[in-house]
Amino acid sequence: MSDKKLSESVEDLVTLNGGWLNVIGRMTSTFDSAIQNLGKGVDCPFPSRHRKGGGVGDFRFSEDSRYEGRAICSCMQDKGVAPIDLLMMDGLGNGDFVKAMKEVKGVLSGSSGHANHVRHTAPVVKRSTGQHDPEVIEARKAKLTRIALGLVPLSHPSALPGREYFRKRGIEVTSDICDVKFHPALEYYSMKKVEGGSSKKVLLGCFPAIVSAFRDKQGKIVNLHKIYITQTGDKLDIVPSMQVKKIDSPLNGFKGSSITVARVEGCRTLHVTEGVEKGWAIHLVTGEDVKAAYSCSMLRSLFIDYKQYDQVIIWADRDPDRPERERIAGDGQFFAWELYKRLCVEGGFASVGFMLPSEIPTEGQKGRDWEDLIVDEFILDYKRSRRFFALKSLAVRKGVFYSAASVAQRA
Ligand SMILES: [Zn+2]
Repeated sequence: MSDKKLSESVEDLVTLNGGWLNVIGRMTSTFDSAIQNLGKGVDCPFPSRHRKGGGVGDFRFSEDSRYEGRAICSCMQDKGVAPIDLLMMDGLGNGDFVKAMKEVKGVLSGSSGHANHVRHTAPVVKRSTGQHDPEVIEARKAKLTRIALGLVPLSHPSALPGREYFRKRGIEVTSDICDVKFHPALEYYSMKKVEGGSSKKVLLGCFPAIVSAFRDKQGKIVNLHKIYITQTGDKLDIVPSMQVKKIDSPLNGFKGSSITVARVEGCRTLHVTEGVEKGWAIHLVTGEDVKAAYSCSMLRSLFIDYKQYDQVIIWADRDPDRPERERIAGDGQFFAWELYKRLCVEGGFASVGFMLPSEIPTEGQKGRDWEDLIVDEFILDYKRSRRFFALKSLAVRKGVFYSAASVAQRA
């Protein structure tokens, strides 16, 4: 009987909190892409449930408001999966329904002890426009262009907050960063609940921002990534729901795109990271080319031109393993490893490397990533020629390297 009471109070809380899609977005980042593309098929967050194809474009949430939050995918039975079961598939409650419900209740009623499930940057539920029609693309292009017109290089006198942001992280910007630029006063919009339960966009203000360009295969800009900061170069944090890092609505070709963080004339080695800060840290270590992906799940489909590079090294994040889930490995290492496998199988590169921090993250905590390790372990104080070796000693198996026959490995 108490279970029924629990599910009723959870349902009430869910309604009060704007429905299951909002709640799911607050509990986990796993379904962000489906939440932001409501009605459109996105890649299944559970590729291991699929045989061939990995569920690419198969996963979506029901568009029927009576079934909000119900997940539909070719790996699930016809009726789909209810929101709470979906969250359990993602690891909530360790397989225990009552525990999972209590977790949701705890988060929504704001009681303490559930802090590790609360995200302050829940994605905004957005209905997909499907195959973007030309007017939509034109409007998006106009918006991206308008932002781009306000950008200056990081070396520009007005870009001091941007340089401070990197300096405070211990990865000083000593030259311009290719496609990473600065906007002195970029609008920040946030969603505000209005009467009737819907949300509307409100302008919160204009703030300094580090703005990076995603380019597609052809080198065309397909989206912008923004990191909002303060005048002193700290992450902007003026309201609790602040989303410091944001992307705009993409143009076609966003999938597979990346941010060019460093491009060195004649360089035949490419380093791949998640995020521009890590990308810049790796460039400071190696002095070589770097591209950054938007998120770990975008790594898998990243486009890399094999004509341009002989060697690719992927710098993975180590997220806590999730033994309760079908896919045990944390997302950072899982998707980076997927990219590694893809590049090895596709061929074209003489050598492909996979670098994963050997330090095992403690439960519920994000492990130190490569940027943390580079800064904490003073890697930049080493001579350039020693830095990569120093990082190898911090990697699982000193890095995993695949090399095509008869090609010398990076020693
Ligand atoms: Zn699936």
